[in-house]
Amino acid sequence: MHLERIKYFISALLLLLVVSGPLYGQEIRTRYATITYTDMESLRKFNNKLYMGRLKYLLNKKSETIEDEVKSKIDLIVEKVETVLDMYPSPLKFNIVIHPSKQGIQTDYQRLYKRTVNYIAFFSPGTNTVFYSADNAKLRVVAHEIGHVVAEKYFAISPPPKIHEVLAQYAETHVSD
Ligand SMILES: [Zn+2]
Repeated sequence: MHLERIKYFISALLLLLVVSGPLYGQEIRTRYATITYTDMESLRKFNNKLYMGRLKYLLNKKSETIEDEVKSKIDLIVEKVETVLDMYPSPLKFNIVIHPSKQGIQTDYQRLYKRTVNYIAFFSPGTNTVFYSADNAKLRVVAHEIGHVVAEKYFAISPPPKIHEVLAQYAETHVSD
């Protein structure tokens, strides 16, 4: 290839990477979850809002990056919720999507269930995915949805919605005990 053409090809490729980057989002894998987020800013905000309270003493002290810190927090919350509910489904694998704000939550809910809601987070058993908004990443909110995940995986047949909710609320209330 002629040098000019190579240069052109490389710059076109770089442009494509820049343009396509934010559309696909980014991904990190924890022991239990595959986390997809729109951009680094959303992950940073999610991490800052997710104050761990007493659980922070159990966190992996070696976390050097935001990605590592989020991974360590999520896995710790999963294990704490399992302990609280005394339910240990195995293997436990699920997806997490982090939106910058609750607008994205509502768009995804509408897309999946054709209904308008005002939720700040939700769990979709059909897609095995929890949706969070970075603005609302409180420990109780995160634990509540993970409570739904653990309950869903534990029972061979999904419990009725009311029982599902009671279990998630129990996880939410007792996560920081
Ligand atoms: Zn719930």
